[in-house]
Amino acid sequence: MIEMKSAREIEIMRRSGKITSAVLANLLRSVKAGMTLREVDRMAERGIRERGGVPTFKGYHGFPASICASVNEVVVHGIPGDRVLRDGDILSIDIGTTFEGYVSDSAATVGIGEISPAAQRLMRVTQEALMLGIAQMQAGHRLSDIGHAVQQHAEKHGYGVVRALVGHGVGKQMHEEPQVPNWGEAGKGIVMRPGLVIAIEPMVTQGSYDVETLKDGWTVVTADGKLAAHFEHTVALTDDGPRILTLREHDFMELDVAKYRPKEELAA
Ligand code: MG
Ligand code: MG
Repeated sequence: MIEMKSAREIEIMRRSGKITSAVLANLLRSVKAGMTLREVDRMAERGIRERGGVPTFKGYHGFPASICASVNEVVVHGIPGDRVLRDGDILSIDIGTTFEGYVSDSAATVGIGEISPAAQRLMRVTQEALMLGIAQMQAGHRLSDIGHAVQQHAEKHGYGVVRALVGHGVGKQMHEEPQVPNWGEAGKGIVMRPGLVIAIEPMVTQGSYDVETLKDGWTVVTADGKLAAHFEHTVALTDDGPRILTLREHDFMELDVAKYRPKEELAA
């Protein structure tokens, strides 16, 4: 069953989302060659707790850290350990905060030092795909319109869209109904209405979309070893359209998505 959220709940989720987005923005600015993933994780946990939140991921089904840190061919769910970031790596950081009982969930991929034009392009297209998916989150549209838009954009650029993992409803739980695939035909699934809150999270690959899970039971890698990027936002459908609850400053590239970034969201 899909738990629709009241305006009051969405307001709390926005406050949760502000913690997530502030900490993520800080991590994206701070990561550099020579840092271990464990250091990035410590910075994340401190940032969440300083702002009055609880790291949602820590202990989730036994996950040992506050972020997932996924480097290069790691798609998602990388465990932040002793791996050292190197110039030219790309790092996907996935982070969640629980605040006053409500979860926000967001992710972004960032380059370490100088990265290849191919890696830059993969990251840009993945972020664009996320924004195009969010733009489909309109009252009266169907849920699969989101995944369809994501898939079309990624495939137009010759990339793969991971099938094995999906976005999801968010609320008191990190993973609620409905599942939100990043691919598929348009016009399927539920009709979206205000009060729906979901995490939209395209995982886009340079090669095949096939993935494998490593022996640690968490780390998901591309089967062909090529790069993957991951961008995610928690988004509420309101009477005024989609509202990104985990919006970050400098979140948008050349896409014209001004109507999804009301100024008051960025002010606080
Ligand atoms: Mg996430
Ligand atoms: Mg998620």
